[in-house]
Amino acid sequence: MEKIKTFTLPKLPYDYNALAPYISEEQLKLHHDKHHQAYVNAANALLARLDEATKESSQVDYWVSYGYVKAFAKELAFNVGGHMLHSIFWDNMAPAGKGGGGAPTGAIAELINSNFGSFETFKKLFSNTAVSTEGSGWAALAVHPCIGRAMIMQIEKHNINVFPNFTVVMALDVWEHAYYVDYKNDRAKFVEAFWNVVNWDRINKNIALVK
Ligand code: MN
Repeated sequence: MEKIKTFTLPKLPYDYNALAPYISEEQLKLHHDKHHQAYVNAANALLARLDEATKESSQVDYWVSYGYVKAFAKELAFNVGGHMLHSIFWDNMAPAGKGGGGAPTGAIAELINSNFGSFETFKKLFSNTAVSTEGSGWAALAVHPCIGRAMIMQIEKHNINVFPNFTVVMALDVWEHAYYVDYKNDRAKFVEAFWNVVNWDRINKNIALVK
């Protein structure tokens, strides 16, 4: 088969034990090496199948006639969404006191103040978005240059409730696989812990890329 462009699991920008005690080594390793890797593998397998099918028009006709295209599109959005959001999530964290935690500075501080009034208000809204996500999902901060606003998205799974053309500059995974080793069923405790490792400098870099 012809070589296709594939997704790859990014290396973490810190050691597996670097986010402890807020996220333990065991929790982080499992989340990154097993869960994120699974989305990468699934997305690549789907794309390989698509490439294979599109070589033969009879195969495409078969997909169409049996309704496989709809299922394919859904599965692809889920797995690519999973890969992309995890990649943002790892990057927007850093060890506590070494780039992680504290009050926001620079562009993100300005954005938070102009859109939400204060960091405290934003923190409350973002945390509640995360905690109240039904089932598996994410809280994410997304920006769009044209309307000059930052909006909090409550993403279900990896791909539902996403605003098209907005750029996610900060993401928090609240799937159970993100916190169950450390916090069992206490999602709120995990969300509170996140603020100790949030990497504002990285989020500022993400904002600078939105033009
Ligand atoms: Mn996850």
